[in-house]
Amino acid sequence: KRETLRAAAKRDCYLADGARIEVFANLGHSGEGTLAVSEGAEGCGLLRTEFLFLDRATAPSEEEQLAEYQTIADELGGKPLIIRLFDAGGDKPMPYLPLPAEDNPFLGLRGIRVGLAKPELLHAQIRAILRVKPYGVARIMVPMVASVSEVEAVRALVEEESRKLGREAPIEVGAMIETPAAAVTAAQLARVCDFFSIGTNDLTQYTLAMDRGNPAVAKDVDALHPGVLGLIRMTAEGAASDRRTVAVCGGAASDPVAAPILVGLGVTELSVAPAMIPEIKGLLETLTLEQCRALAEKALKADSAAQVRTLDKGSATA
Ligand code: PEP
Ligand code: MG
Repeated sequence: KRETLRAAAKRDCYLADGARIEVFANLGHSGEGTLAVSEGAEGCGLLRTEFLFLDRATAPSEEEQLAEYQTIADELGGKPLIIRLFDAGGDKPMPYLPLPAEDNPFLGLRGIRVGLAKPELLHAQIRAILRVKPYGVARIMVPMVASVSEVEAVRALVEEESRKLGREAPIEVGAMIETPAAAVTAAQLARVCDFFSIGTNDLTQYTLAMDRGNPAVAKDVDALHPGVLGLIRMTAEGAASDRRTVAVCGGAASDPVAAPILVGLGVTELSVAPAMIPEIKGLLETLTLEQCRALAEKALKADSAAQVRTLDKGSATA
């Protein structure tokens, strides 16, 4: 069965009624790009760059970063490579980027806040991304966005470095939607972003006010909570005004129960664990957009994630 699925995974993914859904892979290391393409990835929707240099005591130089990014771009053979700017802090300590001790590290210097506070590293990273060949395959994704001004600040840096490198136009810059504020203000963010990618792991943590790594609450940290789904719907609505693509790169995209609901909420790209690509593509091909939308409507009205998990995908047409 797995072989049949893998053969199907090589095709572009369309729902049963012809709606196109792109299926990308989440990557953290070189070598994984080749595996992802062999599983049917149409590109990389999230490169977790903070995983690339974990064993080091000093910050990676522009050249070292470029070498890693170029290797992965080459593995993807010209398919898009969405590179997330370093997402330090919270659950991702970076040895070469010591951060001050905080009472609430998940609510403090995290993600792009760190980058903007320490712009040297951000400059080097942006330059490395701009130098990936062929120009345009690599795109920039900003983690942990809470406000329009953060994306504007990154864009200004990207424009500055693009000019210095003699690029005609800057490459695409997108925001991760991981805070409730970003979801609610998606329409404003859409004006300064080329694309959105929803990080359901953090969005769930911040919406439910439940630590994603705390075993005491782990069973309730579920992206299918109707509160989280409502924010995903708001993101898709906000994006629609400027026709921005909405992807999901958090764990929910790799969850066969969640994937059809995300599509029904207006998500058109799923970035998943490479090994899950055949299953997710195979599942989506059996469903229509109308079924996914009906399922999403029911999910939004459910009382709990547990109840959402009992909804029957097929019952949408019954
Ligand atoms: C997320 O938060 O959903 C996400 C994709 O980013 P990470 O898991 O790396 O925080
Ligand atoms: Mg995250």
